[in-house]
Amino acid sequence: MINWRRCDLLAAPKVDITVHFRTAHKHVGTGWRMKDTSSFAKKKVVIFDLDGTLSESKSDLDNEMAKLIAGLLERRCVAVTSGCSFHQFQTQFLGKLPAAANRSNLFLFPTCSASGYYFDGKKGRFYRAYSNLMPKRAVKKILRSFEEVFADIKYPRPKRTYGPVFEDRGSQLTFSALGQEAPLELKRMWDPDQKKRLMIRRHLRQKLPNFEITIGGTTSIDVTRKGVNKTLCVRKLSQRLHVNKKEMLFVGDALFKGGNDYIMKSTRIQCIPVSGPADTKELVTRIIQSNPD
Ligand SMILES: [Mg+2]
Repeated sequence: MINWRRCDLLAAPKVDITVHFRTAHKHVGTGWRMKDTSSFAKKKVVIFDLDGTLSESKSDLDNEMAKLIAGLLERRCVAVTSGCSFHQFQTQFLGKLPAAANRSNLFLFPTCSASGYYFDGKKGRFYRAYSNLMPKRAVKKILRSFEEVFADIKYPRPKRTYGPVFEDRGSQLTFSALGQEAPLELKRMWDPDQKKRLMIRRHLRQKLPNFEITIGGTTSIDVTRKGVNKTLCVRKLSQRLHVNKKEMLFVGDALFKGGNDYIMKSTRIQCIPVSGPADTKELVTRIIQSNPD
């Protein structure tokens, strides 16, 4: 169990967390600034969404955010849950953290928490602690259902796609309308109000009542086994770290109804909505400043 008073982490090399905000980076205030900092700054575990919260959609963590997360890891346990695969976690997130960052306090939950990866300090690498793999026949059924829905609603397939439109991520099947490697500008324009994906999901739910179907990122729909969704990380962290829900905090950019973080509210842990990575940086800075060495 983690010794919270010593926080184990303090033995880690100090990382310079000085961040210079780009004042030109506009973002909408989301209300957390109005709260008393003590309501969230003392939480032992901070769980983040990835895309749109720590980084732009499917983009690398930038240096400022990487330094801030390293600073937070010296003081708190940090978890990240996202619909993306562990491979994406490695390239987009892990690979960008400073070498000195204390990974022992980092917990990763790719594919909407359908799997969890914890750090093995002796081997110096992350290992898969659990997974809810989907059987091949389930993957086939999901793919077939998508095709049936596309026919039913006369889905206008994009003229051009970039990389695979469907990806079997082991514990999750992900549909990305424009393909996995589509440019962010195009993805942002494809379904800004989620109407296209909400319609597809509504039809899919009738064909796949025994699966979780969530809207993720900018163009994605994620399908996992029933009962497997982002909230699973809360139970896993509670078991692993012996913390209760009052000691956990979730930070995400899609906590609104219909957003892919909305389900986290059902866990009753404190949830803080952010408008994007710039907003998250300010929040993390506030937590760090409230918890000096
Ligand atoms: Mg997000």
